[in-house]
Amino acid sequence: MLACVKRASGELVVEQRPQPEAATGEVVIDIAYGGICGSDLHYFHDGAAGEFTITEPLVLGHEVVGRIAALGDGVTGLALGQSVAVHPAEVCGECAACQEGQPHLCRASRYLGSAAHTPHIQGGFTEQLVVAAERAFPLPAGMTLRRAALAEPFSVAYHAVRRAGDLAGKTLLVTGAGPIGSLAVAAAKQAGAGTIITSDLTDHALGLAEQMGADVLVRADQTEPHEHPGQIDVAIEASGTAAGLNSCIRAVRPGGRIVQVGILPPGTTAILGNALVNKEIQLHGSWRFHTEFADAIALLASDIDPEPLISHEFDLVDAELAFRTASDRSSASKVLLRMNPEPADSSDV
Ligand SMILES: [Zn+2]
Ligand SMILES: [Zn+2]
Repeated sequence: MLACVKRASGELVVEQRPQPEAATGEVVIDIAYGGICGSDLHYFHDGAAGEFTITEPLVLGHEVVGRIAALGDGVTGLALGQSVAVHPAEVCGECAACQEGQPHLCRASRYLGSAAHTPHIQGGFTEQLVVAAERAFPLPAGMTLRRAALAEPFSVAYHAVRRAGDLAGKTLLVTGAGPIGSLAVAAAKQAGAGTIITSDLTDHALGLAEQMGADVLVRADQTEPHEHPGQIDVAIEASGTAAGLNSCIRAVRPGGRIVQVGILPPGTTAILGNALVNKEIQLHGSWRFHTEFADAIALLASDIDPEPLISHEFDLVDAELAFRTASDRSSASKVLLRMNPEPADSSDV
């Protein structure tokens, strides 16, 4: 089977890997789609995402959906051919974070397509993937695999919105209108937020955020969000830049809250520390998600339509072109790799 591999030397190749087999309690999935994430793009361009550096060949990808191709012994509740979204995390279940119901903070967590550990955790941009059966989440009837491909990024956005607290009627700023920022806009709207202001450097991304529910659009290179009238109660920083975070620090009202969900550049980030102090800003990190995955699938099957964010599809063999396309924020948003798409799914492209 084919897999999209980033080598430590820097090359991105699509090469043969052994066909996986399902052990007891596992399932093999024919992957239909894999979404290219900002972290995949960081691995592609820099060989590192945040603090995680590629030191050996890594199959990229953690936003994957597909159909059950084989069931290991002892697997119940799943059927051959069933459409599923793959939960990308496997946690230890024993550490303090796991025991306290915060498994997404498990330091032993093994996340698909991640260089956090060595040996690296091989990812899902493959024709087939084997995972523990409980990580295969069945899709509701009628939900397309293409739509479900947004389950992982939507879970990240949904977790960030939950970290923002009660948003009912509140004015919200979202800096960065990539897929995570735009999905956060949609999740915040669904959670009852009042006015939602979104900032980005490209009109293309802002247009998508508007389709996902943003009320006020700000070109971050032309004006500051805090120049806009009205109090900003909460900010979600989804650009992963110091400039974005400092915009949030300037923009939120005294006592306001900031949720940092964008992955910042490796190392130290210079921030407006004294404004953090004298406005008593609550600055919260937001890292991945865990139990939100099932909720995210249900919301994507009903209230939230992510289709505007899916800008391109490429076959797995064209992965390099897909990665280059996804890197151009003036025209791309979520780019999907296509492995074994459903006939019905590919007709709506
Ligand atoms: Zn992702
Ligand atoms: Zn743990």
